[in-house]
Amino acid sequence: MEEKRSLSERDQAIIWHPYTQMKTAGLPIPIVRGEGVYLIDENGKKYLDAVSSWWVNLHGHAHPHIAKKVAEQAGTLEHAIFAGFTHPPAVELAEGLLKILPPNQAKIFYSDNGSTAVEVALKMCHQYRSNKNQQRDKVLAFQHSYHGDTFGAMAVSARSAFTAAFESLLFDVEYIETPNAGNIDKLIKYLRENAAEISSFIYEPLIQGSGGMLMYEAKGLNQLIGTCRELGILTIADEVMTGFGRTGKLFASDYMEHKPDIVCLSKGLTGGTMALGVTSATQEIFDAFLSDDKLKTLFHGHSFTANPIACAAALASMDLTLSQETQDNIQRICAKHAAFALRIQNNPKLKAVRQTGTIIAFEWETGDDTSYFSSLRDNLYQFFLKEGIILRPLGNIIYILPPYCISDAQLDYIYAKIEQALDIF
Ligand SMILES: *Cc1c(COP(=O)(O)O)cnc(C)c1O
Repeated sequence: MEEKRSLSERDQAIIWHPYTQMKTAGLPIPIVRGEGVYLIDENGKKYLDAVSSWWVNLHGHAHPHIAKKVAEQAGTLEHAIFAGFTHPPAVELAEGLLKILPPNQAKIFYSDNGSTAVEVALKMCHQYRSNKNQQRDKVLAFQHSYHGDTFGAMAVSARSAFTAAFESLLFDVEYIETPNAGNIDKLIKYLRENAAEISSFIYEPLIQGSGGMLMYEAKGLNQLIGTCRELGILTIADEVMTGFGRTGKLFASDYMEHKPDIVCLSKGLTGGTMALGVTSATQEIFDAFLSDDKLKTLFHGHSFTANPIACAAALASMDLTLSQETQDNIQRICAKHAAFALRIQNNPKLKAVRQTGTIIAFEWETGDDTSYFSSLRDNLYQFFLKEGIILRPLGNIIYILPPYCISDAQLDYIYAKIEQALDIF
C-alpha cells in the first residue's frame, strides 16, 4: 500500500515533541537534509539555522570532516561498556579537553547531555561534602538561571512556568542576583556571612541563555568566584551553552582570572552532531572520592557513558574549532554583530540590544505582555520562518546564535529581516 500521508502527518499521529503544546502546534517542518548553515525540507526549501538548532551546531550541518570521523568510528568500535574498560576516542578527547579547559581542571567524567552533566556536577559537590563529613549542603544559583530539565537540573534552575508543575519535588536553592557594580559588595557580604552552610554555587558564565540571553560582566563574576574559592564554596561553571567559542573565547571561564572547580559541557561539544556531556573537575574534588571505603565512590553512570562515536564526533569538532579558519570566523561574527548592534540600538521598538561574542539578542518593547507565551513571540517566529530563517524567540527576545561557518552575506540577510520585522511588529 502506498503511504498517502505526508511525513509531517505521520509524525503528528504518533510523536510527542519537546516544549510543544501538542493541541495547538502546527505540523512540524519535515527536514530531510542539512548543509552548512541550512536545514532543507522535503520540498527543497532552505532554512537558515540562525539558532544553531537549539545552540548545538558549531560548524554547519552534515560537516564532511565530522561525518567522516563518525563513519570511521562506527565501523571500528560503536560502543563498549565504560566501567572497567576504555577506548581511544574517550582518552584522546579527555586529553584534548584538558589542554583547552581552565588549567585547574584535571579529570573528565562523561555523560549524555547538558542536564546529566549538571546532575553529575551537583552529585560530585554533594558527595564531596558527605565524603569529607562536612555539614554544608546549601546550593546557590542565579536568579533567571537555567541548567536543564531533569530534576536536579530543574531544582537549580529558576522557578518558572517550566518548573511550576514540579515545584513540590524540587530541592531548595538560594537564588542570588547576577553581579554588577551596584550589588557586588552586597553579594560578597552574603557569601561571607553564610559560607559555613553553602556547599556549592552553580552559574552560567556571562550569559543566561534560556533566561532570555541575559548578559552580565566578567568582573563581578570573577570577584564572586574568587570569594567562593577563598571560602571553600565549590563553584560549577555551566558552560553547556557558552562553551567552544560562543562568547568569543573558547570558554566563558577564560574571561575570568579565578577558575571554577567544576565545568559542565555539552551542546557544542560534538559540534552538534551527537548527544554527549562532560563534567570536568579539579584534582581536589576527585581526591575526595578516593578511599578504601567503597561508599565514597561516585555512584553515577549511564549506559552510553563515553560512547566512542560521540567522542569521535567531539574530537572531529575540536579539530575544526581550534583551526585558524574557525577562530577567524568567530572574531568576524563578533565584529559584525557589534556593528549591527550600534546601528540598531536606538530603534524605539527595542527595549534592549545585548551582545556577548557570537551571541546577539534583541528585546522587543511589548508594553505589559512580556511573557514567553505572548502572541508577539508566535508572530515573530512565523515571520522569520516564512523568510527562511529559524529564529526561535524566547518570549519577546529574538537572538542570533549562529554556526561559525555563517557568511557575512548570510548574517546581513538575517539583520535585514530583523529590521523589517521591527517595521512590521
Ligand atoms: C541547554 C542547557 C542545559 C541542558 O542541556 P540539555 O542537553 O538540553 O539537557 C544546561 N545548561 C545550560 C546552560 C543550557 O543552555
